[in-house]
Amino acid sequence: MVIHMVDVKSQYLKIKEEIDRGIQEVLDTTAFINGPQVKKFQQDFEAYLGVKHVIPCANGTDALQIAMMAVGLKPGDEVIVPAFTYVATAEVIALLGLIPVMVDVDADTFNVNIEGIKAAITDKTKCIVPVHLYGQAADMEAIMKIAEEHKLWVIEDNAQAIGSDYTFSDGRKVKTGTIGHIGCTSFYPSKNLGCYGDGGAIMTNDDNLGALLLKIANHGQSVRYYHDVVGCNSRLDSIQAVVLGAKLPHLDSYCDARRKVADFYDASFAEVDALETPFRASYTTHVFHQYTLKVKDGRRDELKQYLDEQKIPNMIYYPVPLYKQEAFKASSNGLEYLDNTEELCKEVISLPIHTEMSEEQLAYICDKVKAFF
Ligand SMILES: *Cc1c(COP(=O)(O)O)cnc(C)c1O
Repeated sequence: MVIHMVDVKSQYLKIKEEIDRGIQEVLDTTAFINGPQVKKFQQDFEAYLGVKHVIPCANGTDALQIAMMAVGLKPGDEVIVPAFTYVATAEVIALLGLIPVMVDVDADTFNVNIEGIKAAITDKTKCIVPVHLYGQAADMEAIMKIAEEHKLWVIEDNAQAIGSDYTFSDGRKVKTGTIGHIGCTSFYPSKNLGCYGDGGAIMTNDDNLGALLLKIANHGQSVRYYHDVVGCNSRLDSIQAVVLGAKLPHLDSYCDARRKVADFYDASFAEVDALETPFRASYTTHVFHQYTLKVKDGRRDELKQYLDEQKIPNMIYYPVPLYKQEAFKASSNGLEYLDNTEELCKEVISLPIHTEMSEEQLAYICDKVKAFF
């Protein structure tokens, strides 16, 4: 049986006509950059998220960088990030001459630990960047409270949790990525809302920040050839906007399909003692960008080798804590060990999850995994 980690092709075939027609239109009009498709997607995405401003850009890493430039951080300022995340989050911090202060994550949610944030705050701390890892939001209510107390910026890395809802203790429900001062996302093809190339977006409810983010992403200009600030060049192109525009109306059903896969796995692995299925926090809807198990008894690498032999795709997100990466050795404050991060790097394994999985494929994977134990 052929199983893919992600199946972008089968998903495309279901909306092929609309996408092909839209792309042909871009070709016919040659409005490759800043075509009307970009504006339309921006507005549709604002409406979907319930946010005042969406600034489309070239990729998720740019989104994070532009966000960090917009809040006026200066070299030497400290930015708090989880040590267990994709490299992009810390990379842009270091790139701007800021100091990534890495803190531990919770062993159950995989997201940044609240006490860890509090302990890491110094008088140089200016910003917190929570990452909604694998599709589940960090504890944003607690994070916003800390940020308010210490006057810190909050930039959400929502690259893995687009479409997810977050519910505050007073019952207010919002989309993740719209809670912090700025939210960032990626439309990399395998993301929950992916285009067919690179793409990203920045979100904010603040009018001033919205204008500044737009300016920075466009060479620091609001009026052509008049450059107020040093910016960069980061655009979503019209072809990618066509793809995203076609997929956005399906995003909620895509999230549902992923949750169904996760439910199937959960039920199937409930009786396997050595496997810990993903924890689901009560304050958010998990959109399962990844389905990530914890393998106990030191058997993770053995399971991985077995799955490779069985031709069942699997991935280790992420095998090395950020503070152990060569690139960050100089900037990670001499940090050497965070308990949960270290443990997770040794225990996690992600199984195939996407919108097109059949029960037959799922049963096959589950049977093989159970046969291993
Ligand atoms: C994918 C991803 C990014 C970066 O997105 P790109 O579009 O590849 O630049 C940033 N942060 C996280 C958590 C991601 O998963």
